Amino acid sequence: MARIDLHLHTRYSDGSLMPGEVVDLARQAGVTALAITDHDIVDGIPHAMEAATPLGIEIIPGVELSSRLDGQELHVLGYFFDWQDPVFRDHLAQQRLSRNVRIPRTIERLNALGLELSEDEVRAKAGCGSIGRPHVAQVLVDKGYVQDTREAFERYLKEGAPAYVPRALSDTRDVIAWLRNAGGVPVLAHPTWTLCRGKPLYRLCACLKEAGLLGLEVFYSTHTRTQTSRYLEMAKRLGLLMTGGSDFHGATNPGIQVGRGKGNLKVPDTLLDPLRRAAR
Ligand SMILES: [Zn+2]
Ligand SMILES: [Zn+2]
Repeated sequence: MARIDLHLHTRYSDGSLMPGEVVDLARQAGVTALAITDHDIVDGIPHAMEAATPLGIEIIPGVELSSRLDGQELHVLGYFFDWQDPVFRDHLAQQRLSRNVRIPRTIERLNALGLELSEDEVRAKAGCGSIGRPHVAQVLVDKGYVQDTREAFERYLKEGAPAYVPRALSDTRDVIAWLRNAGGVPVLAHPTWTLCRGKPLYRLCACLKEAGLLGLEVFYSTHTRTQTSRYLEMAKRLGLLMTGGSDFHGATNPGIQVGRGKGNLKVPDTLLDPLRRAAR
């Protein structure tokens, strides 16, 4: 059974590699189909396609959208949507705008705490893509204020930390509707995120299914065997499709490999056809 990877980030959002480099790692890992799922942006997709087509690797249009439901931040992955749809792209542009407001405020707070860094420095880290807290974290590492990006989040950037600025996020149900309207398949990403807070996962998924959710990310780099089988069972009971991916970010999140996660991730290619059929 061939291996696929439906959750990968590039420099177009907070990953450290260009789409072509990610495709090359996918080839080395024996991945036959992949989705670049950058945060709130689809601009990396054509570059990934260009690199993958000569290698016989399939690129599935993908994206990861940040959203909020009942005060909880949820990430929704989208697949097989029309990534050139102008209405959908307009929603993405709005999503990115909310990031552009948040980051300068975060920098102001850090400056007030005595840490010297500028918006230009953070922007330079983002390169061509959408700007986010990981880029702030990287600047803090470069300047020696913290050892690594994890410490940057723990000490300054995570919710409740002194430089945390909440982001205006779209309602999860709206985000799901945008994807459905663009012909795509919305999937709840990394369900472990929802373990500690908010609604129990089963009820949350049932509620989101009513709003148009079609899938659950069952296979994921950090899922234990028990979690994977629990989510698999849940997807079956709710009639949700299953997806999986590494959430590869390159150097931004070391220890996670394309197609293999922490070493024992294997997302089977048999998941692909049901997803393809669910898209319209
Ligand atoms: Zn995510
Ligand atoms: Zn992700």
